[in-house]
Amino acid sequence: SNDYRVVVFGAGGVGKSSLVLRFVKGTFRDAYIPTIEDTYRQVISCNKNVCTLQITDTTGSHQFPAMQRLNITKGHAFMLVFSVTSKQSLEELNHIYREIFDTKQNDNDTIPLILVGNKCDEEGQREVTADYAQEYCSKILKGCGYIETSAKTGHNVHEAFQELLSMDKTRNMSL
Ligand code: GDP
Ligand code: MG
Repeated sequence: SNDYRVVVFGAGGVGKSSLVLRFVKGTFRDAYIPTIEDTYRQVISCNKNVCTLQITDTTGSHQFPAMQRLNITKGHAFMLVFSVTSKQSLEELNHIYREIFDTKQNDNDTIPLILVGNKCDEEGQREVTADYAQEYCSKILKGCGYIETSAKTGHNVHEAFQELLSMDKTRNMSL
């Protein structure tokens, strides 16, 4: 089909839903509303045609294993989100990365995947430095991209999605 599916993974509370809502609707809310699972659709340009970008906002680490597997199998590109205010939230990504890698490694050699350090507006609460996250990327995630965002201010949110789409060399996509 003509769909391009992006799946957003990460621990509860890191700002997955906030990032997706900021990107899709341009809004932000301070309240924490736990997500079941939501998919948002946007029309984008793909190989000089239009296609549908589907963004799946997952529940976080307590997903049903079958649901998680399905999301990985169907997904074309992955956004792994942690909060720079929680080292634990970065470590929780190890497991999901392994699942993605084990499922996708045979499809092609590079999996479009970006590590996103959200809540970079909370500088005083920071537990993960940009250097540490970069190193995590090169050592654990086999060299994916790293970007810091704030769903609250909107900093780098569009760029994170754009960067992820540009990693897929099999199609030429733009927002
Ligand atoms: P999710 O569980 O990963 O979907 O996280 P949510 O998007 O529901 O956000 C969890 C909490 O963090 C909410 O209270 C949000 O308002 C807050 N939050 C999300 N993104 C940011 C951000 O970039 N900066 C700050 N300061 N708070 C954020
Ligand atoms: Mg959520």
